[in-house]
Amino acid sequence: MKELTIPERYNYIAVFLTLACNLKCPFCINDFSDKTEGYSLIPADKWIEGLNRIVSRPDLPVTLQGGEPSLHPGFIDIINGLRPDLNIDILTNLQFDVDEFMEAVSPSRVHRDAPYASIRASYHPRQMDYEELKAKVLKLLENDYSVGIWAVQHPGMLAEIEWAREDAVNAGIDFRVKDFLGYHDGQRHGVYKYEEALSGEASSVECRTSELIIGPSGDVFRCHADLYQGRAVIGHICDELFDIEDVFRQCGCFGLCNPCDVKTKTNRYQEFGHTSVEIEWEKS
Ligand code: SF4
Ligand code: SF4
Repeated sequence: MKELTIPERYNYIAVFLTLACNLKCPFCINDFSDKTEGYSLIPADKWIEGLNRIVSRPDLPVTLQGGEPSLHPGFIDIINGLRPDLNIDILTNLQFDVDEFMEAVSPSRVHRDAPYASIRASYHPRQMDYEELKAKVLKLLENDYSVGIWAVQHPGMLAEIEWAREDAVNAGIDFRVKDFLGYHDGQRHGVYKYEEALSGEASSVECRTSELIIGPSGDVFRCHADLYQGRAVIGHICDELFDIEDVFRQCGCFGLCNPCDVKTKTNRYQEFGHTSVEIEWEKS
């Protein structure tokens, strides 16, 4: 199949193996609307065929995520089926059996030079047992896997997260926090480049992404909001005719954006100030 070269400007290759999850965090950044439940999953061989078309850079991995990516029945096959020169990151809640994982996946397959861990386990207070998570992370670390813990700084759980952070750091675990995005007690949290993007009122703009976003059925989307709403598919990862076009696209859904796409955040070098999409207003 034709190669898919990632534009130099791109910062992220997001592969949503499934939007299903085995936890139900109240602050989940994914929008588990009715539409996300309707996605079909493509099997491991299709993911391998489509993702192996990608030509990326050593510092730009394919990030397997979800939902919870380990719920995809071909999770391990996909990891082991990708070309060795394609680096892999995994975002997971680590509810899976790490012994089975270690038996099937070599530490070098998910280990690269980066200022943060390749396997990023999320900690969700009140949804999971912290001690179990910590034990799994320590076991992976002892076996040379690149793994760390990340927690969303939910305003209602700051004390629990800080306690866990201190405990993890004392145990030698890299523990980092991410901004909470969205509303809590009627107050909006997060720093956004385009505040009006979350107004709830749709208008028309030109929008250009810096991310390759691939949904569970292999469809490619302009942004997270489109993925969660199942709208405006721009191609399919297994379609021979699909190519990545680094262009502005017309969008009539500005105002209904996802916080993830319009927040000010760190890029892959952990430098602050990056925003996933660039917006231009149409000239009337
Ligand atoms: S583990 Fe992650 S994907 Fe699953 S519900 Fe919690 S925040 Fe959402
Ligand atoms: S304007 Fe918002 S909804 Fe439209 S493509 Fe850009 S990020 Fe997505």
